[in-house]
Amino acid sequence: MSKKITVLGGSESGVGAALLAKKQGFDVFLSDKGNIPEKYEEILIRNDIHFEETKHTESVIFEASEIIKSPGIPNNAPLLEEARKRGINIVSEIEFASRYTKAKIIAITGSNGKTTTTMLVYHLLKSAGFSVGLGGNIGDSFAKQLTEQDFDYWVLEISSFQLDDCYNFSPYISIILNITPDHLDRYDYNFELYKQAKFRMVQNFKESDYLIYFQENEPITSEIAIRQKNGTLSKGNLLPVSLEQVIKTGAYLDNNNLVFQINDKHIRLSLSEIPLKGKHNAINVLCATLASLLVGVEEQHLHSYYNEFKGVEHRLEEVMTIDGVRFINDSKATNVDSVFYALDSFQEKIIWIAGGVDKGNDYEKLVPLVREKVKALICMGKENEKLVAFFRKIVPILYQTEDVKDATEQAFELGRQNEIVLLSPACASFDLFKNYEDRGQQYKKAIEKIAKINALKPK
Ligand code: ADP
Repeated sequence: MSKKITVLGGSESGVGAALLAKKQGFDVFLSDKGNIPEKYEEILIRNDIHFEETKHTESVIFEASEIIKSPGIPNNAPLLEEARKRGINIVSEIEFASRYTKAKIIAITGSNGKTTTTMLVYHLLKSAGFSVGLGGNIGDSFAKQLTEQDFDYWVLEISSFQLDDCYNFSPYISIILNITPDHLDRYDYNFELYKQAKFRMVQNFKESDYLIYFQENEPITSEIAIRQKNGTLSKGNLLPVSLEQVIKTGAYLDNNNLVFQINDKHIRLSLSEIPLKGKHNAINVLCATLASLLVGVEEQHLHSYYNEFKGVEHRLEEVMTIDGVRFINDSKATNVDSVFYALDSFQEKIIWIAGGVDKGNDYEKLVPLVREKVKALICMGKENEKLVAFFRKIVPILYQTEDVKDATEQAFELGRQNEIVLLSPACASFDLFKNYEDRGQQYKKAIEKIAKINALKPK
């Protein structure tokens, strides 16, 4: 009789895991406490995978010797507590899937910049002709893709929730971009626990492995120091990336040049070649390029590869300029740190659209930048009180709305030649929108409308 596996959660990652488990000959049961989206239900039926929705039947779930848990389910869910008591192994989709690939894995984590960096590493490797796949939190799940094909390399975006249930996952190159407060609701509001989850990325760090990290992020460097001392990070190769210091082995920013120093190579590239704005993107590019050089991407081609990289939608995305007012869509900025870098990226005056579901934000870090650059704040959310109370005395103009069209029109009204309208919310989107993509799309639609009306106006 084949071994039983239960998958909890019927979305991209859960259904992918179920498909891979089925392909590997397990007897699979998928259970979701909510409704399973139709698209995934069809896949389960087509592949003859048993499932249930809107309930968890414990007697069936606990027959399994292993549970693959979707990242959306919190670790302290009573069902999981019970499973642990019964000695059932609980793993993430990434942990499970990585058992079935021989590829070298390049894994990217951090509080911000994962998607951008992951896409760039993938772009560099793919452009250079390497056999490489892209997965993790992006597009089709890693597990599902492995049912179809394998590559020499996988570039994976990894969230802390996926890492929570990783044990043997062992990337060849790990990138930790930054660790700043986010998702603390899932870690008992304990930053230390969140940090430890991120560092599970290197829990199996070997001599042949690399860890690329941003050294000006204090939580990362202090944790590395602790782990070097206790021996858990003493074997592999540590490659710091810095915006402030010359780095002997690693990469750094030297005025307006990106400098890479590895394997006796000294490479210098102009920052102006990179089509991504802001200091934060310099960090991302330094990390991504360093990883690509380790794999074997040749320096002389980097120029053209950079040129072809267009950035990622909803991340400081240039939308259009109307009457000299530049609209930027940074809808993916759902925490304070990403907004900090967004505000820092512009020299011009900013009309800032923010708000939504606050995840326990501390806005203090933004005050100097807001004082210097923000001429108006448009609070767009169902509950704007916290934003209003904090910034009332800091910004000259404050406007409140629950409507994205109204917010965008007001911003345009306030905007003058060479000013920026920046949607960078610092908050989650689900009070008014389906998700951050929906928020970004609706914002862009509102901008298009303004452009149309404006074009009809007599000048
Ligand atoms: P993630 O996948 O980690 O959410 P994204 O690449 O989607 O990261 O970017 C999310 C937000 O964070 C965007 O607003 C982006 O401009 C900002 N951002 C990107 N890279 C960094 C970084 N290294 N540090 C801080 N913020 C960043």
